[in-house]
Amino acid sequence: MIQTPLESLKKIFGYDAFRLHQQEIVDGLIRGEDAFVLMPTGGGKSLCYQLPALHRPGVGIVVSPLISLMKDQVDSLKAYGVKAAFYNSSLSGTEARKVLARLHGGKLDLIYIAPERLMSREFLERLNDIPIALFAIDEAHCISQWGHDFRPEYRQLGRLRGLFPEIPLIALTATAEAHTRRDILERLGLRQARSYISGFDRPNIRYTVLEKRKPFAQLTTFLQPRYKGTGIVYCLSRQRVEKVAGALTEAGFQAAPYHAGLPAGARKQVQEDFLRDDIRIIVATVAFGMGIDKSNIRWVVHYDIPKNIESYYQETGRAGRDGLPAEALLLFGYGDISLARGLIENSKNPERRRIELHKLNAMVGYAEALSCRRRILLGYFGESLAEDCGNCDICLNPPRLVDVTEDSRKALSCVYRVGQRFGMGHVIDVLRGSQKERVLELHHDRLSTYGIGRNRSQEYWGSLLHHLVHNGFLEQDVGNYSVLKLTDAARPLLRGEQTLSMAEPRVKTETASLTHRR
Ligand code: ADP
Ligand code: ZN
Repeated sequence: MIQTPLESLKKIFGYDAFRLHQQEIVDGLIRGEDAFVLMPTGGGKSLCYQLPALHRPGVGIVVSPLISLMKDQVDSLKAYGVKAAFYNSSLSGTEARKVLARLHGGKLDLIYIAPERLMSREFLERLNDIPIALFAIDEAHCISQWGHDFRPEYRQLGRLRGLFPEIPLIALTATAEAHTRRDILERLGLRQARSYISGFDRPNIRYTVLEKRKPFAQLTTFLQPRYKGTGIVYCLSRQRVEKVAGALTEAGFQAAPYHAGLPAGARKQVQEDFLRDDIRIIVATVAFGMGIDKSNIRWVVHYDIPKNIESYYQETGRAGRDGLPAEALLLFGYGDISLARGLIENSKNPERRRIELHKLNAMVGYAEALSCRRRILLGYFGESLAEDCGNCDICLNPPRLVDVTEDSRKALSCVYRVGQRFGMGHVIDVLRGSQKERVLELHHDRLSTYGIGRNRSQEYWGSLLHHLVHNGFLEQDVGNYSVLKLTDAARPLLRGEQTLSMAEPRVKTETASLTHRR
């Protein structure tokens, strides 16, 4: 008796309904079409190939990079009564022969296999005599250098489309910005395939970005009203983790550090205490979170800028898995960006360098943006929102633009007067009429621009100078102590032929607590 996919979903897997796109993907594959599926981890990608494999004659061949994952998948399929097996180097000779016998005997619905095994001449020859339901390529980003987990053995998979033109092929991944997506489709020969992208939106998470000023004070201000719930503070280095965790403890917060430099026993303890809510705050490097299944994390703070939007989204996504309101705060410091750029520039591989810089720039673009944060995040993953989200700092508290034409001219003149030989700190000192020894020694207190910016704070000038850099009026000589220089674009602004505005810097957290505006 032939069932519909929906009936199989209910009968075999015990679920009532398909999630968004699952049915279309399943139906398409059953008809013999290719597909590209982008859904976050936990989104329900597996069913997209498991069901059609059961509805088409022959065996479904699933490529997966990790032996441990194959075993888990196969075990859970067997529990549903699906005839599944894996074929990899963990099997003994006898076990491997048994699997092959079942494969040739048409006794398997699904077989999981590593890419290099599948593409070996020996295995491809076997496939000549076997009906194949479909090919599924899991973790498809491994084929692209743009992804975060490039695996050379995935490259061979590019031949599949040509070798088996009549067998449907589905590629699945949880992570792919535009370049990776294009690269996957191209390399797998899936240009005709339909793309299905869904499940990235986490509407219960409120995104906020603050310019990093006095980060520890900003952190405690954020924590005070939110300390009832548990959360994670991510820092980029182990030293920073230790420092922030120590300072939080001293300030009376229940916090513990977590990073790869701690003994395994201590890490395990911290993790368990956090799961039991015995520790409220984990201060961690990115080492923390993989495989952590805690649904009631209420907030995630990034004390330093993450390297790319993929990491950022994955880390903030650990908040609010229970669907209740949660928050993600990013402290965004210009110093951190230079630091991150520096680390990337050190990398030996020029291709990697280019890719990582591009990704960092996208992250900076997110932090500096003046439009709905969620739109930017979802757009990065290829998903679009019909309207602004109403639950990010920009939506809730739209930026106010202020006219900075006059102050920009002061700042640009000052850069000029100090001979275009100094960095931001010194320029600001001169603008604000500082009595610092260095200023006096250089006789910069005699310049016409000395003290003309007294009425504004140091932070204000910092924001404005960065704004001028980002808008191309000033450049920072990276090779030379970040010395500020005027660009040609500065002239019309200096001559008063052009005006300039800037969003008021966001520094303070709104202390209004978590309420839902959706
Ligand atoms: P992914 O591979 O995208 O990380 P999985 O395929 O492992 O995600 O699915 C994540 C979880 O969601 C699994 O527990 C799976 O059984 C469940 N799931 C998938 N589709 C549905 C559905 N239509 N209804 C209910 N649960 C589902
Ligand atoms: Zn928004």
